[in-house]
Amino acid sequence: MAIIVQKFGGSSVADAAKVKNVASRVIDTYQEGNSVVVVVSAQGDTTDDLIDKAHEINENPSKREMDMLLASGEQISIVLLAMAIEDRGFPVISLTGWQAGFVTNSNSGNARIKKIDTERILSELDKKKIVIVAGFQGLDKYDDITTLGRGGSDTSAVAIAAAIHADKCEIYTDVDGVYTADPRIVPSAKKLDAITYDEMLDLASLGANVLHNRSVEMAKKYSVKLEVKSSFEKVDGTIVKEAVSVEKMLIRGVARDNDVARIAIVGLEDKPGIAFRVFSLLAKKGINVDVILQSIGREGKKDISFTVTKNHMQEAIKLLEAEKETLCYDEITHRDDISKVSIVGAGMVNNPGVAAKMFEALYDAGINIHMISTSETKISVLINVNNAERAVQAIHDKFLI
Ligand code: ADP
Ligand code: ASP
Ligand code: MG
Repeated sequence: MAIIVQKFGGSSVADAAKVKNVASRVIDTYQEGNSVVVVVSAQGDTTDDLIDKAHEINENPSKREMDMLLASGEQISIVLLAMAIEDRGFPVISLTGWQAGFVTNSNSGNARIKKIDTERILSELDKKKIVIVAGFQGLDKYDDITTLGRGGSDTSAVAIAAAIHADKCEIYTDVDGVYTADPRIVPSAKKLDAITYDEMLDLASLGANVLHNRSVEMAKKYSVKLEVKSSFEKVDGTIVKEAVSVEKMLIRGVARDNDVARIAIVGLEDKPGIAFRVFSLLAKKGINVDVILQSIGREGKKDISFTVTKNHMQEAIKLLEAEKETLCYDEITHRDDISKVSIVGAGMVNNPGVAAKMFEALYDAGINIHMISTSETKISVLINVNNAERAVQAIHDKFLI
């Protein structure tokens, strides 16, 4: 007998037939004699629809009220799944995040799990019940409902698996594993049998939303055995683990992230301390800066461009405009019609020419690069958003076909 955590994403529970399909998969695992904890997301596009609903009423709702609203999506799916399992005659209980013991910090909209008080989950498992837990939500120390950031149910599942020392954590979704690129963009993408935590973390952080990046971080930290599988087909998925037998792959995958905006501060004074002032201003407000580019100084002036997520663009511009006098720049420009396309792979360490090969693929496709950022195991380029899918395809073909 094993303890198994299974997570089913929004598309896997999108309608009644799909909820019943999930119930069958869960019951199969239970009937094999396992203790089963199931984490579910909100059905289909529910979370997006709730966000739209909120904005019809208030364009700028407080994060606290937004979390109250968004958490309701998952509460519907846990109940529907529990009812489907009940209907099949199996013992089951649905639990909200807080009933399941999720304690988070107070960073509404992007809260971090601090701990899980596992007594309730464990006592229900002791009673031989299938336990269904709402993903994506918890409670902070003020008893306010929090959510874990978009895609956060994966993290809920891994956190439970770590906390109750589950034997494995299975992430069921609408694709049958992790591919060398999003199979919806690149039909020739290949399914990976296995991928390391580090490579998966890079892919997820760079836009491969098949796993929430923090779920991978947590799986690595607590050595959770993780598998990404299809909700609909019974085939082997992709195992995410510490080490993968070395295959001759220069890169493991290509990712795309459209949630990028670029801000350029033009004509800053070219003197020490300017970059420090710009970025500490943003850091103090919790604005995460990604790719940074500083031009070579000319006539005592320089430009600094950087990227932030789209939802931080206006706030960042406002902060910089408020400091125009002290920062002494000519102007600020911005655009959010851009995308970040990246390649990831431990195989590129000590392999010169990987970047050149990536840029050649883009050149052959006639795609202009705005910014570049590299590390030992990843290379990212910023390009126009309308070129992004072509870029992913071209880069994928160059390295992985
Ligand atoms: P869920 O609702 O189950 O959490 P998501 O939409 O969050 O599902 O994640 C699954 C989606 O991730 C797939 O439909 C696919 O389009 C996308 N995806 C992006 N990159 C990859 C990749 N490298 N491999 C597999 N799927 C990917
Ligand atoms: N329902 C949430 C979202 O759409 C959480 C999740 O799906 O993991 O982001
Ligand atoms: Mg997801």
